Amino acid sequence: MNTIEQHIQNLRTELREHNYNYYVLDNATISDYDFDIKLKELQAMEEKHPEFFDTTSPTQRVGGTVTKNFETIPHEHRMYSLDNSYSKEDLQDWETRIKKLVDGVIEYTCELKYDGASISLTYEKGHLIKAVTRGDGFQGDNVIANIKTIKSVPLQLKGDFPDKFDIRGEIVLPFEGFIKMNEERIEIGEEPYRNPRNTASGSLKLQDSSEVAKRPLECLLYNLTGSNLGISTQMESLEKARQWGFKVPSAATLANSIDAVLEFIDYWNTHRHDLPYETDGVVVKVNNLQQQEELGYTAKSPRWAMAYKFKAEQVSTKLNSITYQVGRTGAITPVANLEPVELAGTTVKRASLHNADQIKKLDIRVGDVVYVEKGGEIIPKILGVDLDKRPIHSEPTRYITHCPECKTELVRQEGEAQHYCPNYNGCRPQIIGRIQHFISRKAMDIEGLGGETVALLVNEGLISNYSDLYELTKDQVIPLERMAEKSADNLIQGIEQSKNIPFERVLYALGIRYVGETVAKKLAKHYKSIDAIANATEEALVNVDEIGIKIAQSVRTFFSLEANVFILNKLKRFGVNLEMSAEKLKGQTEKLLGDIIVVSGVFETVSRNELKKLIEDNGGKISSSISSKTSYIVAGDNMGPSKKDKAEKLGVVIISEKEFLQKTQ
Ligand code: AMP
Ligand code: ZN
Repeated sequence: MNTIEQHIQNLRTELREHNYNYYVLDNATISDYDFDIKLKELQAMEEKHPEFFDTTSPTQRVGGTVTKNFETIPHEHRMYSLDNSYSKEDLQDWETRIKKLVDGVIEYTCELKYDGASISLTYEKGHLIKAVTRGDGFQGDNVIANIKTIKSVPLQLKGDFPDKFDIRGEIVLPFEGFIKMNEERIEIGEEPYRNPRNTASGSLKLQDSSEVAKRPLECLLYNLTGSNLGISTQMESLEKARQWGFKVPSAATLANSIDAVLEFIDYWNTHRHDLPYETDGVVVKVNNLQQQEELGYTAKSPRWAMAYKFKAEQVSTKLNSITYQVGRTGAITPVANLEPVELAGTTVKRASLHNADQIKKLDIRVGDVVYVEKGGEIIPKILGVDLDKRPIHSEPTRYITHCPECKTELVRQEGEAQHYCPNYNGCRPQIIGRIQHFISRKAMDIEGLGGETVALLVNEGLISNYSDLYELTKDQVIPLERMAEKSADNLIQGIEQSKNIPFERVLYALGIRYVGETVAKKLAKHYKSIDAIANATEEALVNVDEIGIKIAQSVRTFFSLEANVFILNKLKRFGVNLEMSAEKLKGQTEKLLGDIIVVSGVFETVSRNELKKLIEDNGGKISSSISSKTSYIVAGDNMGPSKKDKAEKLGVVIISEKEFLQKTQ
């Protein structure tokens, strides 16, 4: 091995080990900063030496692959459901049933039931080669590009692992990361995600794996499948999986009777609230794999396992008042203010009531005693009303008709659940919310300026829209609360620097309804300037790839408002990027215009991402699945056989990496 290759290998080994220590063992052995430096070094070396490409390199975890249609693959071993039990009797009945079917002493493993999305991982020669969702249990989608970004999933196993096996587990989103994601969403005026489980399972189906990489997902493993694994009990298989580098929670315990199982359940029924992720029960499994085999399966589930569901904790408390919040887009959210009550280890004071329909459906009234539950949701849910305790003179809740902030009459569009305040330019929370969105990290990323300062600036009358930011002077901001010479300097400097933010992000920052990051990128790339977008008709907009009628209408509305035109002109005058910079346009050609291209396999001289960028920069379109519309396939090594078959059937041409590169020269 030459020294460069050796150096690359050493870096990979070192980073893998740090990853493992941090994400699997929860034990950091390097600072984030040093890790980043080393990762960047490795990235640079790999880019310079593509001949040493390795799919299991830690650099592969940042994502970047875009999958439009995930490939559906059959499970080699079916993914069953679990039978549920809710009481001691249920578990005893189960034991009676299985004792009739197997001989000998039965021992049980007790594991927590992690509440997330199940996944089946296939490893060959220690490498992850497939990651398939449960789907209908018989077949699921291969989401390997997304799974690879989850740091606790080993890309390369350690120790003495079998040549080929499947391992099953649950992808979960720990509370801490979930809450952080929601804070960021609220900051940019998006609806927060409802619960960690749905967010985890939604993440698996995201098309852009670099988006998945940003989500703090974890993979907890619980089941090995395969032949000749040389393992005789469930406990042993968990231990083995741990040794190979998988994250297997340590709660798993052996129990020699149903009473011992119940002790485990009792313990975790309260202590589960101390866990960093959601659990919804316990899974009890016959420990001996021989006995498991004898017991076999019913049509739906293994006879050798039983889930015990925790009861969602419920309390009742008084509804003191309902208040209404106005979001950045003007959406109104009703909030229940409750008499504080202890629930699942926290004090609950508020609950979301979602919208007018929800209040009507449950007939929730101020003064009522309501049932509150903390299930999978972080925000507790109101389940219903204790009608026996309803005060005699209670009246049905009348939903507000006017904005609580600016008194404008609310509107509710057909088919929408939410009421909106239409006072776009005069409603304070909307004004503040829009500016907060404008300055947020993914938008203009203005350093030295935070959400609270924005509110302060608006309330003090210093700004009333985001273009006013560029007129602020140091003297104006110094008198503000908690401002000092230095912070004022930083703020002004941060605003100045935001003039370098590229057009696509400025477009996103404008806060046009339904124009998120991806749509902004699409529009920026297609139209290249704000003026071109402003002049585009609804029909023209709809013709842009992935732009639907809802987005097109919203864009038209935005530019038809006089105030917005005024603000945009001001931004332009201050030098904010309202068109694609010349640099960005350079290197773009139309050589592949009209070509619909599928990329498959591993490449020698360019990375997959570079290849995709080349296609886009030259006007081509990338598609993830082969159809009669496909112009050609660029194939590297290891192109999947099913893709090959399909290409042959449809008569689609396959070209090599080299041939493709010639086309773009
Ligand atoms: P259900 O979806 O309610 O039928 O429950 C079955 C699901 O529980 C399985 O598909 C797994 O995804 C999940 N599960 C979570 N934790 C475990 C565990 N420790 N053992 C087995 N299954 C588990
Ligand atoms: Zn309003």
